[in-house]
Amino acid sequence: MKTRALGFPDRVRVAGIIYRVEYRKRIWDDDDGLCDGACDLDRKIITLLRKYPTREVAHQAFWHEKMHAIVTEYGIEMSHEDLDRIAQGITQAENSPTT
Ligand SMILES: [Zn+2]
Repeated sequence: MKTRALGFPDRVRVAGIIYRVEYRKRIWDDDDGLCDGACDLDRKIITLLRKYPTREVAHQAFWHEKMHAIVTEYGIEMSHEDLDRIAQGITQAENSPTT
């Protein structure tokens, strides 16, 4: 599923701060290797893949990176595991069946 087809934005606002959203074919992190997404908290850039296996995986990757921005900008202390769980919870709630 292409992120462009999902209508993902080029910018998101977190605590009044604009994060640019970039889309790449591959995302490489020096510590983690190939990633599903990245959040550069210094440069205020969220990087996502141009394509994910499913719509839900794309949304979860986006929420995961948005959570990094939210937690940082609001000064919340949270483990990476909890951050990911919340991203998963939001994604599932937002993609709930309508019938
Ligand atoms: Zn993360």
